[in-house]
Amino acid sequence: MRTPIVAGNWKMHGSREFARAFVQALAPRLDAGVEVLLFPPQVLLGTVAETCAAEGGAIGVGAQTVHVEPEGAFTGETSAELARDAGASWTLVGHSERRQHFGEDDAAVAVRVAAAVRAGLAPVLCVGETLAERRAGEAEAVVLRQLDAVLERADAPLAGGAVAYEPVWAIGTGETATPAQAQAMHAVIRERLAAAGLDGLRVLYGGSVKADNAAELFAAPDIDGGLVGGASLDADSFAAIVAAARARGRASSTETRNP
Ligand code: PEP
Repeated sequence: MRTPIVAGNWKMHGSREFARAFVQALAPRLDAGVEVLLFPPQVLLGTVAETCAAEGGAIGVGAQTVHVEPEGAFTGETSAELARDAGASWTLVGHSERRQHFGEDDAAVAVRVAAAVRAGLAPVLCVGETLAERRAGEAEAVVLRQLDAVLERADAPLAGGAVAYEPVWAIGTGETATPAQAQAMHAVIRERLAAAGLDGLRVLYGGSVKADNAAELFAAPDIDGGLVGGASLDADSFAAIVAAARARGRASSTETRNP
């Protein structure tokens, strides 16, 4: 059985005070069965990593993106190596906001996965179609193209990482893919991963996941947890989403024991 992941993407929000209070509120409410990850802004990586360690070390920490080079004259950028040194063990790669606002195309995303792996960070590869692409019937083709751009690179192995399916039209909009829509795309992604020998990779859903819709999304057989934006800024909401993933894990292990 795949252990679900619930990951919080804080985007460009928070402060050191917020980060410490959030982790201190969340950590005592976690127990085994779900891998919990936080992706704070880069300048908060150290604070979050240190607070997570002080609170028992059960929460993993990741960067929101990494530069492709290990070091150099790239003012304002953060390499995967620097993120790792600050306490990250994961990184998001190819989030739709990076693709949309920072010009990261499929090739740029693939090279960032390679940079993450070089530095020992596990990548969460984000893929997803826009509303126009879905309406044009191109959703699957777009998602598979984004996935293949990484799978085709020998130096960018996804093993040990995860994929997050995040339909762009559902991110920050309050509009969630229905469990059936999400499951259909997750099944397509899982099939492509299995063909690449990555059967065990976790595939997360992202796009307006909230405490009140998480359980029905996580009940789908190919949804292994969530990548959460807005609702990850509230410790109560985020803890409730983690609890929904934990309940799903328990249900699946019951099914496994009593087929
Ligand atoms: C995200 O930022 O990856 C995301 C899914 O955001 P939200 O949950 O706010 O839609």
